Amino acid sequence: MFYDEIKKISWEETTEKIMAKTDADVRRALAKPHPSVDDFMAMVSPAADRYLEPMARLSRMYTRERFGNTINMFIPVYITNSCANSCVYCGFHVQNKMPRTILTEEEIVREYEAIKKLGPFDNLLVLTGENPAKAGVDYIARALDLAKPYFNNLQIEVMPLSREDYAGLRRHGLNGVICFQETYNEARYKTYHPRGPKSNYQWRINGYDRMGMAGVHKIGMGALIGLEDWRTEVTMLAYHLRYLEKTYWRTQYSVNFPRMRKADNGGFQPNVEMTDRELAQVTFAMRIFDRDVDISYSTRETKEVRNNMATLGVTTMSAESHTDPGGYSCRPDSLAQFDVSDERTAREVERDLKTLGMEPVWKNWDAAFDRAGH
Ligand code: SF4
Repeated sequence: MFYDEIKKISWEETTEKIMAKTDADVRRALAKPHPSVDDFMAMVSPAADRYLEPMARLSRMYTRERFGNTINMFIPVYITNSCANSCVYCGFHVQNKMPRTILTEEEIVREYEAIKKLGPFDNLLVLTGENPAKAGVDYIARALDLAKPYFNNLQIEVMPLSREDYAGLRRHGLNGVICFQETYNEARYKTYHPRGPKSNYQWRINGYDRMGMAGVHKIGMGALIGLEDWRTEVTMLAYHLRYLEKTYWRTQYSVNFPRMRKADNGGFQPNVEMTDRELAQVTFAMRIFDRDVDISYSTRETKEVRNNMATLGVTTMSAESHTDPGGYSCRPDSLAQFDVSDERTAREVERDLKTLGMEPVWKNWDAAFDRAGH
């Protein structure tokens, strides 16, 4: 399990190593066909800042070779904001006395139907908070069953589950699971997740192994940028990705670098910031490090950032997202998990991608593949 691996890696020493990387280390990393995690550290280090242009060229070339000009399109749907956790950076945390919504079956179907009117979405990401008592695995399974007539590719972003539960959900059409570790820094993890099931670092970080063992076809990973030093976070992510790719080699992987924004509501403020330039650096570094990994940008990022990066390494995007349960159809007044920055419609995103010479792909999976044993 990955927890046994990460225990051997010192957070502080990793930070020191990254900060000590030199120009020569960066040039060496960029020249390698198969960079190591040590090379990745060089590419995300401050020393690599002056190599952004050659990194962009390499990233664009590797992405074109592997993925062509395509961008996979997906849409998230939040079916509940009910949550037993107390993540200090999230508006859905249990102490927040807000009205909680658990969509009924009829409301879930209305959401699916409303989404289908926005564009030909076929990749659906179903999200919940973490409330196993009121919106547990059976509820998620039902949401997947209800989605099948509308979408082929079903992914979830929910609480970490047992291997048996992941395997069980696969029988309900589950194709992919996204889970963010939030922070890989175990010593600081409880500061951000003081109570609730999510306070268990080990259970969360080993969740990806359980997904792999259950035969989940695609695993999405990431760290929340804004909690701890981002260079060290993405390096731990690189270790984790390489470990999973070696251990569960039949599985596909995607990564995302969700950036927290400063809030003017007096709520939790990010401890660290990643600039647009640094986001580009990490994206290029990840592509050069791993030519096969899917790199996903959500509507947390602005239209400008997403358009700029669409041709340089990103391979998946969401569009026209609502992060409030019922937000597409029935409950436009419920609280959103975070504000989206890119407010274009799906059709506007499609048009802009085409103008950039990219081909938006709405369908990249057929449920029949799974039945055929792929
Ligand atoms: S981040 Fe997720 S688990 Fe944490 S409080 Fe928000 S909805 Fe709940």
